[in-house]
Amino acid sequence: MTTHQSAPLQLDRRSFLAFLGAAAGSAAIATPALAKMSRLGESGALMSSEGMVLKWDQIKPGFHAMVDLNTGGNAMVMTSGSSAILIDTKFAYIAGALKQDASLQAGDPTDLDLSLINTHHHGDHTGGNALIVPHASASYAHENAINRITDQLDRFKQGAQSGPSQIRRSKGSDELMKLAMKAAEESENWTAKDIAPRNPIKKSESISIGDETVSLHHFGNGHTDNDLLVHFENANIVHTGDLVFNGLHPFFDQSAGVTASGWIKSLNGILDRCDKDTIVVPGHGPVADRTVIETQISYVQGLLDNVQRQLDKGNAKAEIRTMSWDFMDGLGFESLRERAIDAVCDELSS
Ligand SMILES: [Zn+2]
Repeated sequence: MTTHQSAPLQLDRRSFLAFLGAAAGSAAIATPALAKMSRLGESGALMSSEGMVLKWDQIKPGFHAMVDLNTGGNAMVMTSGSSAILIDTKFAYIAGALKQDASLQAGDPTDLDLSLINTHHHGDHTGGNALIVPHASASYAHENAINRITDQLDRFKQGAQSGPSQIRRSKGSDELMKLAMKAAEESENWTAKDIAPRNPIKKSESISIGDETVSLHHFGNGHTDNDLLVHFENANIVHTGDLVFNGLHPFFDQSAGVTASGWIKSLNGILDRCDKDTIVVPGHGPVADRTVIETQISYVQGLLDNVQRQLDKGNAKAEIRTMSWDFMDGLGFESLRERAIDAVCDELSS
């Protein structure tokens, strides 16, 4: 097993953009001002990557996050004894490494008991499911996510098949390449059954792992119609999925049931479960504390207020979408700004 590369993995951003849709693909993603947003970044997160393929932040003993804008949504692993829970699978070319590293974090047992949670259906959080679901003792997603994930089978296969060339371009490690090539070969035979989580969640459910209670909550439509909050109650850690983008414009996906008002309701549902010590793993961007949730509420509320003001003045969507307001200053993923405004214009006009 090789150690991870000291150079950060510079995987092609197209792999992320491909899942964001045509509008997002039209412009380069700006580098966000991340450092100021990251509590753990400021204090220097414990790096824990010995012997692992990928670079992980140990956020507490037994809890690791893989935060990397170039490889899709943030993944997280919790271990207890020979059991592990993986949250989100990023892309197919990287999921083999997620699984291998999760096993190492659990002490490399011969019989790893692995569970999977998908925070929502988007392909940058589920693209590697085929490498995990068939090996998992349980795989959870909101009930609305399951058909949406299944519909992406062809894209997941294409993603797996383009993985090795992306890793070559980004000079990823030999071990990562080996795992990506294996995924590319196997992807020919993937079926919908391999990628669809088997344990649908309607509203709330709790899972036990060791001494930890992991509760899953769906607060209604927000970023999509199938967002789940993952709450590690004893450890006081939440993984918010894409209900929170840290230091970045959030992605408004009108084909997936996004609503700004529902998004705020979901964020308040998360805040209700957080205190000043809660560690927040967002869907994208660095690990932070609860203030990142408040910042996300300000963004979405700011959009609603400003777009409404422009509509009241009689301005057309084509004009409003070119605007930017204070709460948008300095954020990455600039190519998602117009999309967010469009969605809120439509929501407020309907
Ligand atoms: Zn998403």
